[in-house]
Amino acid sequence: MTQDLASAIAFQVRSTSGRSVTASTPMEVWQGLSASVVGRIAGDWETTDAVYKAGRQEHYFSAEFLMGRALLNNLSNLGLVDETREALASFGIDLSQVLEQEPDAALGNGGLGRLAACFLDSCATLELPVTGYGILYRYGLFKQLFDNGFQTEHPDPWMEEGYPFVIRREEQQRIVRYADMWVRAIPHDMPITGYGTRNVGTLRLWKAEPMEQFDYQAFSSQRFTDAIVERERTSDISRVLYPNDTTFEGKVLRVRQQYFFCSASLQEIVDNYVKHHGENLTDFAKYNSIQLNDTHPVLSIPELMRILLDEHGMGWDEAWEIVTHTFAYTNHTVLAEALERWEMQIFDRIFPRISEIVREIDRRFREDMGKRGLDGQTIEYMAPVSGNQVRMAWIACYASYSINGVAALHTEIIKRETLKEWHAIWPERFNNKTNGVTPRRWLNQCNPRLAALLTEVTGSDAWVKDLSVLANYTDSVDDSVYDRINEIKHANKVDFAAWVAEREGVEIDPDAIFDVQIKRLHEYKRQLLNAFYVLDLYFRLKDDPTLDVPKRVFVFGAKAAPGYILAKAIIKFINEVARLVNDDEDINGRIKVVFVHNYNVSPAEHIIPAADVSEQISMAGKEASGTSNMKFMMNGALTLGTLDGANVEILDAVGDENAYIFGATEKQLPSLKRGYDPRWQYENVPGLKRVVDALTDGTLDDNGSGWFHDLRQSLMEPGWKGPDVYYVLGDFESYRTVKDAMAADHADARGWARKAWVNITQSGRFSSDRTIRDYAEQVWKLDPAPID
Ligand SMILES: *Cc1c(COP(=O)(O)O)cnc(C)c1O
Repeated sequence: MTQDLASAIAFQVRSTSGRSVTASTPMEVWQGLSASVVGRIAGDWETTDAVYKAGRQEHYFSAEFLMGRALLNNLSNLGLVDETREALASFGIDLSQVLEQEPDAALGNGGLGRLAACFLDSCATLELPVTGYGILYRYGLFKQLFDNGFQTEHPDPWMEEGYPFVIRREEQQRIVRYADMWVRAIPHDMPITGYGTRNVGTLRLWKAEPMEQFDYQAFSSQRFTDAIVERERTSDISRVLYPNDTTFEGKVLRVRQQYFFCSASLQEIVDNYVKHHGENLTDFAKYNSIQLNDTHPVLSIPELMRILLDEHGMGWDEAWEIVTHTFAYTNHTVLAEALERWEMQIFDRIFPRISEIVREIDRRFREDMGKRGLDGQTIEYMAPVSGNQVRMAWIACYASYSINGVAALHTEIIKRETLKEWHAIWPERFNNKTNGVTPRRWLNQCNPRLAALLTEVTGSDAWVKDLSVLANYTDSVDDSVYDRINEIKHANKVDFAAWVAEREGVEIDPDAIFDVQIKRLHEYKRQLLNAFYVLDLYFRLKDDPTLDVPKRVFVFGAKAAPGYILAKAIIKFINEVARLVNDDEDINGRIKVVFVHNYNVSPAEHIIPAADVSEQISMAGKEASGTSNMKFMMNGALTLGTLDGANVEILDAVGDENAYIFGATEKQLPSLKRGYDPRWQYENVPGLKRVVDALTDGTLDDNGSGWFHDLRQSLMEPGWKGPDVYYVLGDFESYRTVKDAMAADHADARGWARKAWVNITQSGRFSSDRTIRDYAEQVWKLDPAPID
């Protein structure tokens, strides 16, 4: 068998590189091996596609899919990891070195895009007929480097060296029509294998290309360059992923991108319906449902109306009936700055017919609400179009048969506040679907030592497909298992230390507590609170070098949106704290700070298995769910967090003794914030003054950027939302108290391991398999469709 596999791989590698396997570069081996994996699944992929297209299907629309690497995931799903390792070893090649060649498919910003990727994994594993639709960005999220502690951004042309997991399907192209240009949408399909199933789902990513006919008129005249420029303008549409996470940017190119993938996907879905069920589209919603991942794909609502009205001759009421039984909307944020709204003039200019339809939706909405007896002010507030702006979230709420939040607390907040007017009219549309993460990537693949222990303790690998089985073992293991947990964590920390030394040039001690915060950089996530703790601990040690505190490593990983100056200032600040602390001989390595550059899915897979502490410290009420909190829990890190997002449910699952909770609650904050003056904390909380002052008193250098002064201002001076909007100084004392206590608890190795074990075994409800089962049963009304 291994012999067969070895020759199959060798054949593919030789076809890729044009030379022998042993002479090929690791990148060429990755290419060849990946191509041979695609070859293996091709038949099942084709079969799955045919089966799915014939029955009821779910379509997951998302502007982002943060897929990360594909090869190990596919090998693992196919049960080929060990054999492949042996086959490569027979050529003297190390599989892990080959796996490290693979670029991350970083077609997303953070949690929202990674959620879409975890969902596809679960859908394939559960054999559900679900297809993902998005955009094939030429440049994924920018690559982050540090230059003297400042973030710099660099392009990430992730497919440029060839990428075997994406197959171009030129013959299935669609045309997307804007008023000022027509564009070809070329589908590029990524196979989505599941664990222990032959079903292979699809992620269909659309690439924008110019229309076939080159403008020879222009070409042969003096306008040669104009013709080239025009071609470039069409390709622009799928050129780059916008790097803003949780803020809205009103760029015309962005709305073009959104319409582009919505229109191409819907054209295909409607044509497929016609092919299988005939020209009469009355039953469209019986066979198709579309989940909108946030408001980015909301243009598909007027676009489906357009297709039904203009291309299939339906009347408005009949078409609206179909549309309102097709779409389901997932809300991802309560941050006001993230709610998408577009200038009506943009719509008028680039797709006037969509404009017309949106206006008609608005007109009928107002009429409908008037009949229901709503007052004028409420109607104006909820209207799809108002003050010349189109409000994408309101269109989603009006047209969707389901509206969900992504954690219990978040759903309560959208019902109570963000979407309360909609909840008042249509309470039955609202439901919660707490996010989840796939235990394949986030445990079985990234933490093979722990995976082996779980298989040993439970007697099989059934947990990989049903993580909830682990709950049977929460209370039934003895000290030998706790000792194994500690050995595994230590071994993972040794590996991670080597990875950090090589990648970041920082030496860290595997016996220290590894305390980790990895997520997008945003003020509400409060990386600054964490950095203030580190700086305060540094000052405490300087004051009293004999202070008996456990050795600590603080790990950060975060990208800031390129235009978000305060976020970039926090990155610079953390890097300066790292410089101060790491180099100080008095500290003597008792505190180390590592800022892992270019945080992404594959670095996360190296970091999380080595973490002791999971920092989930957002201001309560602001983090919709969080998903890194779940990844850490699965890998036995303990949560240090506020009662926010899914932290609330993690606490519920593990109990008070097994998580560290601090800070103001969402309920308490409004009254705490009334009359809040952070100068009181600054003056009265011991140690806080000197960390805030360190921003501007010369302790730390922002190289003349003025950014540290801006940071101080954001905390101390009344801004447009008041000083210290995210309550960093308000929560500091509580955070420090709990974090100190947590560090002290680490000394009890078995006690700590027991807590870790409870976290691991209670993580079943945070598997995306659970989330997807809930969507399938309660929202999508979808049954599995196994191909054999
Ligand atoms: C899971 C994940 C996220 C989301 O992290 P949060 O802490 O939940 O915001 C962001 N980026 C990457 C690369 C991830 O893997």
